[in-house]
Order: sequence, then C-alpha cells, then structure tokens
Amino acid sequence: MIRVAVFGAAGRMGATLCTAIAEADDLDLVAAVDPAAAGRMIGDVVGIAGTSIVGPAALVEVVADAQGVEASGAQVAVDFTVAGSARENLAWCAENGVHAVCGTTGLTIDDRAELQRLFGDSTSPNCVLAANFSIGAVLMMRCAELCAPYLDGVEIIELHHDRKRDAPSGTSLETARRIEAARAEHATVGVLAADPTEQVTLEGTRGGVLEGGVRVHSVRLPGLVAHQEVIFGSLGETLTIRHDSFDRASFMPGVLLATRRVGDTPGLTIGLERLLGL
Ligand code: NAD
Repeated sequence: MIRVAVFGAAGRMGATLCTAIAEADDLDLVAAVDPAAAGRMIGDVVGIAGTSIVGPAALVEVVADAQGVEASGAQVAVDFTVAGSARENLAWCAENGVHAVCGTTGLTIDDRAELQRLFGDSTSPNCVLAANFSIGAVLMMRCAELCAPYLDGVEIIELHHDRKRDAPSGTSLETARRIEAARAEHATVGVLAADPTEQVTLEGTRGGVLEGGVRVHSVRLPGLVAHQEVIFGSLGETLTIRHDSFDRASFMPGVLLATRRVGDTPGLTIGLERLLGL
C-alpha cells in the first residue's frame, strides 16, 4: 500500500481524488489537507464533488496545513490547490522526504526551475508535475506537437468552467510551448505568419500571444469542465484537434498513475508522457 496525502482535499479536484484513492486497492488515504474544511472528516467533505467515500478513509480528519501531514507517514502527497499554496506545499514535501505529484496550474517557468532545484538532487524525493492528467489531453498535446511543423498557422482555444482562477489554462500554455518547440526543431519551418489584424476595435479579441507567436483564447462558462481546440491552418485546409473532459473523473487515471510511479521516477518529471511511454 502506498500512503497518500492530498493537499486541497476539499476542492473539486482534491475531493474527487480522495474518493479515487479510497477506492484503489493499493493506495491508502492517510492525510487530507485543506484550510477550508479543517477539523471535518473527509467523508463528510467530498460530497461537493458528487462522490462519496466509504470505508475507513472516510474518517480521515482534514487538517489545515502540511504540519498535520507529518504524523501520517505519507509517502506521496498530491497537490490540487492554487499556485501560491502549491509552491509552499511542494517545498514542504521536498524538505520532508515526501514524493510529490502536482496538478495545480498557474506555476511559472521560474517555479519549474525552483522545483528542479528542490527535487533534482539524488537524495531528494521525486516530483511529477502535470498541467493536465487526462490521458486524452496528453494525447491531444502529442498530436498537436506532431502536426506543428507541417502546417502554416495555429491558434488555441481553451474552454473551462466559470470558477477557474488562472487564464490561460496550464494545458494551453504547455501545448503552445510544445508547438513552438516542435516548429523550432525543424530547420525548414518558418516563423508563424504575422497577425494580419490592422485595427482592433475590442481589446483582447485576438487573444494572448506567446513568444513564438502562438495565440491562445480563453473561454469561461458555467456548464464547461475542461476543453481545448488546437486549430491548424494551411493553404486551403484546416486541421482541428479537440479534447473534452466532461467530468473530473477523467483526470483520475493519470493522477493515480503518477501517484503509483512517482516513487520510482527520479527527479522532476514534467507531464505524463514519460510515465505513459510516449
Ligand atoms: P478548487 O478551488 O475547487 O480547490 C482548491 C482547494 O485548495 C480549495 O478547497 C482550497 O481551500 C484549497 N487550498 C488552498 N490553499 C491550500 C493549502 N495551502 N493547503 C491545502 N489546501 C489548500 O480548485 P480545483 O478546481 O479543485 O482546482 C485545483 C487546481 O487544480 C487548479 O490549479 C486547477 O487549475 C488545477 N487542475 C489541474 C488539473 C490537471 O489535470 N493537472 C485538472 C483540473 C484542475
């Protein structure tokens, strides 16, 4: 059994994850951290995700911060909080020899460098950081990367629920970076065409633009979960790659895979690709 702690246990992702861990035969939910539900039993908290925990895991008491995890003997901690909290929680994991799995988005390139410093040492615990744990989304990014050098232009539309705090999504940024890297690797591929827009009558309508020229547009609406379209355009044709997560359950197989494998995956691992053999 792998002993697992969850940071953000009372949140939408954390609560879904606590239920998934409780249902897994080889994982033991030993600690649940969330200041928003401190002092309550996790079994009473997870209802917000439309799931329920049965069995002994339901009796785990939610604690306010990482100090409460110390006594639990957790071997792996999974973080689904907000970027500011994730920075602190991950640093705590590194200092306390607990392997970390992080799905929290909004972390920057500088944060990654800091995580490399914290988890890159041969004596430190390991960390898996993924902007998207859905296997379908990982494949969507891989497909976008494969197509990138062969088509002239590309823009990304990411669509999320109306309570998402960061924009654009971590997945769209990761996809854009990988498209730019794939294009840069092919010597024959030119830079993306300049934006033809000469007059913007409504600020923001052309989206945000990354260094390499990929544009990202963010949509926030009730009813959505997590969705993304990568639209490539070329002479007389377009190619659209679309992925939809309709339920937070879609992230669980990937999170559980990372939770099981992080202990024997040295250093900092970005994305699920390596664990999936992609
Ligand atoms: P949420 O707002 O429902 O939950 C976040 C929870 O974290 C809250 O309950 C909050 O009280 C708690 N929290 C804040 N600070 C904390 C701390 N220091 N310690 C412990 N708990 C703390 O958000 P959500 O929808 O569950 O999303 C959480 C994060 O996961 C976001 O960054 C989101 O973008 C990301 N996300 C990632 C994936 C992925 O596959 N990587 C998928 C979905 C969401």
